[in-house]
Amino acid sequence: SAVEVATPTRTRDIVKKYGFEFKKSLGQNFLIDQNILHKIVAAAELDGTKGALEIGPGIGALTQHLARSAGRVTAVEIDNRLIPILRDTLAGEANVEVVHADVLKLNLHELFAERFEGLSGISVVANLPYYVTTPILMKLLEERLPLEHIVVMIQKEVADRMAAKPGGKEYGSLSVAVQYYCEPSIVCTVPHTVFIPQPNVDSAVIKLSLREKPAVETRDEAHFFRTVQASFAQRRKTLMNNMSSWIGKDHRETLTSIMEGCGIQPSRRGETLSLEEFAKLSAALYDAGL
Ligand code: SAM
Repeated sequence: SAVEVATPTRTRDIVKKYGFEFKKSLGQNFLIDQNILHKIVAAAELDGTKGALEIGPGIGALTQHLARSAGRVTAVEIDNRLIPILRDTLAGEANVEVVHADVLKLNLHELFAERFEGLSGISVVANLPYYVTTPILMKLLEERLPLEHIVVMIQKEVADRMAAKPGGKEYGSLSVAVQYYCEPSIVCTVPHTVFIPQPNVDSAVIKLSLREKPAVETRDEAHFFRTVQASFAQRRKTLMNNMSSWIGKDHRETLTSIMEGCGIQPSRRGETLSLEEFAKLSAALYDAGL
């Protein structure tokens, strides 16, 4: 359809026509800016051979753009009140399928097999509901979905944490988890004036390009992530103190020699360790049976 959904006038008209009331609890902030939409879609590097999974299409602002750029689009929306609206706003778009579901409860491997078979690549492109940003992204990454890129609008503070390098206060277990699977880059920051209704936080578009294999090799992946969690458990404590609260106070001497063997000073803080250092430390602890 030639009529753009994402303009202030059209969005207000649709909302009025259907008597739609925004649910804050579902993170409903609709985009009304064509410029931002172009930036999001350009970052996803789509073409007619690619598939796009959209999470939370709302009234179809982004979906419409994805339909024009990708071979196939599947849009998963939790709010049943939006399904008839999407049928209307996406009427002309033959390559779009709307699925009424909670994305967190959906078997995405199955959905991909049904919808994206034969395509040359799949990306997730979305303006995410902010209350479930991290669970959604962790589901996409941990389930090892065959994705090329994840381009999402999220809270700016969360985007900064995902892209943070070691040493700063934004670097934490979320940074490590995201960077283990992806190369992150911030596409742009977004003022709250481009949404209806306006959220009370700043937003950013982040692009996560999936790595062919994880950034570091681990002896045991679950142990690696437990080591990371434990290192950040109490941010103001040293690595030694966090490690010994996790492993046990009676292991302090062993811990000291393991850390020194990895070239990591026990007096450092978790937030200064690179992914390589976390992997080294986890492997050494694991090999020592800790
Ligand atoms: N894509 C639209 C846009 O940019 O204007 C709407 C974005 S709005 C920030 C988030 C959307 O996600 C809403 O339509 C909301 O109903 C939907 N949503 C919230 N939780 C969801 C979930 N668990 N699964 C699928 N969709 C969800």
